[in-house]
Amino acid sequence: MSSQKRTFLVLLGVPGAGKGTQAKLLEESLRLPQISTGDIFRYNLKNQTELGLLAKSYMDRGDLVPDEVTIRMVQDRLEKPDAANGAILDGFPRNLIQAQAFGEMTASDGGVRLAPLINLSDEEAMRRITGRRVCRTCGAVYHIDFNPPKKEGVCDIDGGELYQRDDDKTDTVRNRLYVYYKQTSPLIGYYFAKGVLAELDGAQPIDVVQAQLKQLLEQKL
Ligand code: ADP
Ligand code: ADP
Repeated sequence: MSSQKRTFLVLLGVPGAGKGTQAKLLEESLRLPQISTGDIFRYNLKNQTELGLLAKSYMDRGDLVPDEVTIRMVQDRLEKPDAANGAILDGFPRNLIQAQAFGEMTASDGGVRLAPLINLSDEEAMRRITGRRVCRTCGAVYHIDFNPPKKEGVCDIDGGELYQRDDDKTDTVRNRLYVYYKQTSPLIGYYFAKGVLAELDGAQPIDVVQAQLKQLLEQKL
């Protein structure tokens, strides 16, 4: 590994705030990979791995997958060559134990460089989650009203089939919001105290949020 410090961003916000959407747009300009723990769990589920089968019952309920498993998975992911210069974390850490573990993993890089918080009301988050559609092959994210594909049900990027996540359909959505407030929202104070929190208004259009995020990164990185 080079002696240069790696850059780690942690995107915060309620489920549906737009973390994945913004992370995917940032990947190219920052030349850092998006690491979405939700995407990694779904990939494992699709391939019926042991990890996927373990995660399934937690995901179906909207509860957090146990920390030990999740932290080890992120540790492994950070060892891949594409993360040599850092990463954009989306959906991790999700509680204080994970945040502390991530702090240790990144201590030699000075820890998390910036934690943008994408603010959004619960009502709007519900609308976003229930209209979300995802490409089965590449994971690109759409919304039936706010960010529709050119052709209904078909991914603009690779022509893959768009589907609705099981956990976006049901009461699980409410539990995920509950879990967010109970377990994840303390991270706002945690990163504020570290001096790396930056808030954004997530109710704005995707391109406006992206432009503000980039501006923020130019100032802070
Ligand atoms: P959303 O942003 O809509 O909440 P994610 O794709 O980030 O969805 O997460 C989907 C599910 O995957 C979560 O409800 C949880 O069960 C599991 N999960 C994702 N990230 C983590 C994490 N860091 N720790 C524990 N469980 C996680
Ligand atoms: P998260 O990763 O925070 O759970 P996503 O990036 O998956 O959120 O976005 C949730 C849903 O909202 C998706 O259907 C996405 O297309 C849509 N969306 C994301 N950002 C915006 C925005 N700024 N305005 C309107 N819809 C958005």
